[in-house]
Amino acid sequence: MEAEGKFAAIIVAGGTGSRSGLAQPKQFALLGAKPVLAWSIDAFAAHPRCTQIILVVPADHFGTAEAIAAGRVKIVHGGDSRQASVAAGLAALGADAVTDAPYVLIHDAARPGLHGAVIDRLLGALDAGAPGAVPTIPIADSVAEVMDGLGDYARRENLARVQTPQAFVAAQIIAAHANWAGPDAGDDAQMLRATGAKVALVSGDPLLGKITHIGDLERVGAMLGQARISVVGSGFDVHRLVAGDGLWLGGYFVPHHQKLDGHSDADVLLHAITDAILGTVAAGDIGQHFPPSDPRWRGAASDQFVRHAMQWAAMAGVRITHVDATIICEAPKIGPHREAIRARLAEILGLPLARISLKATTSERLGFTGRGEGIAAQASVSAQVWDVP
Ligand code: MG
Repeated sequence: MEAEGKFAAIIVAGGTGSRSGLAQPKQFALLGAKPVLAWSIDAFAAHPRCTQIILVVPADHFGTAEAIAAGRVKIVHGGDSRQASVAAGLAALGADAVTDAPYVLIHDAARPGLHGAVIDRLLGALDAGAPGAVPTIPIADSVAEVMDGLGDYARRENLARVQTPQAFVAAQIIAAHANWAGPDAGDDAQMLRATGAKVALVSGDPLLGKITHIGDLERVGAMLGQARISVVGSGFDVHRLVAGDGLWLGGYFVPHHQKLDGHSDADVLLHAITDAILGTVAAGDIGQHFPPSDPRWRGAASDQFVRHAMQWAAMAGVRITHVDATIICEAPKIGPHREAIRARLAEILGLPLARISLKATTSERLGFTGRGEGIAAQASVSAQVWDVP
């Protein structure tokens, strides 16, 4: 075994994002000033023993990955499973790879807290002769079987969390993948272990925690020293009142002898809130995202505009904390519907009821709202965002 061998890195960014609650995979969301994925690329690129980085991404996110990687990595399409994606990464190493770099490190893009010290510990284990090594951290809580109520406790001292990157002698993990005949393996270290090889353990790091859910972005960002600041977005909208049998306000149907006129369902309150959310991200206005000229939005329920704006905000690492909105009209009376509208807004925005403020006012019979020609709404949305330069 060659001591001080160089390594190739494979970053698997195969997730579709469904588990995180995001429309886009979480590895493309902003964590501080750069996307989650970029953190791992930077950590490998900065390591003196890294010869190349291979990034495995879903085919439909190739362009996003290319923009983030900025020419520093070789990008290949992933497979249907993590295992297939790693195999695609190994296949992309190239014919001379094992001579150039006898080691390979396989890492999940959803663990952005990668740093040189963990890489050094893994390489140290390989330099000392281990065919494979994984970072582990002890389990602090009790661990029990819970199939049918509380079952037996496991011996915690015999258990550990297994993180990535996982490090291997390249030729051995390539052979383990090639010879694997079982069902989908838990991870690559299990595949190496199945060949009879002993996988070494090195100290992992809480910083390597995985981003599984949207809320994890903020927690992991704080661990990585990324500061948050408060911002406020504002929105304003008006729709004309015409003859009809009721109108949508905040995703709630209010019976009335008129309706609001518009291309979509004309929910003036949700439109103001959508613009306020886009304001927290500096992402333009509702007209840019949903042009009235687009037939897709004819009669559309406006909660989808809010959800789109929230997705946009989530990918920018924004957490919405509070909404304060005002409806301006002479009729219908908002008071009797206020609590129902608040409850609906809380549902659409995924916020506690206490974080939804809804007010109503007339304009003292002045102006277009005073004459009953239309309804206006304004909204302020408070949010926590990354403090970026
Ligand atoms: Mg509107």
